[in-house]
Amino acid sequence: MTTDDLLRRTAAHAADFLAGLDARPLAPTAGLDELRAALGRALPEDGLADAEVIEDLVRDTAPGLLGSTGGRFFGWVVGGSLPAALAADWLTTAWDQNAALHASGPAVAVVEEVTGAWLKELLGLPGEASFGFTTGAQLAHVTALAAARHQLLAGRGWDVERRGLAGAPAVRVLTSGRQHASIERAVRLLGLGTDHLRAVGSDADGRIDVAGLARDLTDAPTVVCLQAGEINTGLFDPFAEACALAAARGAWVHVDGAFGLWAAASERLRHLVAGVERADSWTVDGHKWLNVPFDSGFVFVRHPDAHRAAVSTRASYLVHAGDTAEATARDQLDWTPEWSRRARAVPVYAAIRALGRNGIAELVDGCVEHTHRLVDGIAGLPGVEVLARPVINQGLVRFLAEDGDHDARTDAVIERVQRGGAAWFGGTTWNGARAMRISVVNWRTDDRAVDRAIAAVHAALT
Ligand SMILES: *Cc1c(COP(=O)(O)O)cnc(C)c1O
Repeated sequence: MTTDDLLRRTAAHAADFLAGLDARPLAPTAGLDELRAALGRALPEDGLADAEVIEDLVRDTAPGLLGSTGGRFFGWVVGGSLPAALAADWLTTAWDQNAALHASGPAVAVVEEVTGAWLKELLGLPGEASFGFTTGAQLAHVTALAAARHQLLAGRGWDVERRGLAGAPAVRVLTSGRQHASIERAVRLLGLGTDHLRAVGSDADGRIDVAGLARDLTDAPTVVCLQAGEINTGLFDPFAEACALAAARGAWVHVDGAFGLWAAASERLRHLVAGVERADSWTVDGHKWLNVPFDSGFVFVRHPDAHRAAVSTRASYLVHAGDTAEATARDQLDWTPEWSRRARAVPVYAAIRALGRNGIAELVDGCVEHTHRLVDGIAGLPGVEVLARPVINQGLVRFLAEDGDHDARTDAVIERVQRGGAAWFGGTTWNGARAMRISVVNWRTDDRAVDRAIAAVHAALT
């Protein structure tokens, strides 16, 4: 089979998968043992025909794929893929450019430049901020906190890149205590130490306690981590107040806006992020609310020099922008802790062009509207308590048991919904109680999907 035939056949398989999303159960039908039996062949001694490899892959994975790119999937914060973004992602793979340097792929380097500027505009972030395209929010946090570490210690006469952390003043990291676990991992990876991660407290809804922040801020080098979109409730920290307090102490403010910062792209929701532009760094995901395929995250840093000092690199065998006639070219490897990488900005570029500013606002507003409809619809079923009404695209409900064991009942209902295959919701623990998360981040979710999901929950209750 020619490469041409192989790619056309594979495209047909991909299209069939997407066309079948509406009909297939969302949960996998095969268990771990079956998947291992189907996929776990002995290491082949000799190669197989390309077509056979692909046909086997399609067949053997089918019963173990989660329908998470479909419109009735409301687990975690998992976005779908816009058609233009998916198609651009295929092209990115076919072009196979190494998006480390401008010189190793000039067109995709310029795509990244343009896309970074568009994102700042869409999200209302300062024009002078530098940016990097990472695998996701996790590496965006690592990049942002590396820049913070550089700047905070440089301000105390400590060159952390050269001297390391031994003997350096400790960098404190203050949070509400409700931070996403990826913040803690970034703190660990950067050697800041989780002993220096301090919770200042939060209100019952999960917003950072501003009085607690004022109390715990000192003149020691400090990063304040705020959230645009708490993972369970979608709530926003009071950015203006918290940034003012942090600024008075010379602290660095980092905002985890993995999904919630997209509220800035909606006229209706923009008030929720008021003041967020005063922070020093921001994390946002593309693979969640913008609906581009995995892996796609963004980091923005108000201080390009700190950002670059923390993660850039030089090697004599490379051709760096600035060494060439293209003096203003931008090398991607200066802005993420990665070397060779795929041209991750290309699907983002395509998504933004396919939607435009208005389409992105409609995507965001539509998900919020569907979240409200889901929460209201489920709340109308017998024995349901709403624990968190949606502010944006996240809501929490639980299922009440006659025997009073609401946690067990809630977990049992979630499991029954998942097994039913018509909708998929996940669980969480919120203020000590088990809850079902209602999380809408997919352009494919429509009124019909919402109605089917409510019916699926109803069926699981009886
Ligand atoms: C998903 C998420 C993360 C981690 O993002 P990845 O893109 O999966 O690395 C961090 N913070 C919040 C609030 C999230 O929702």
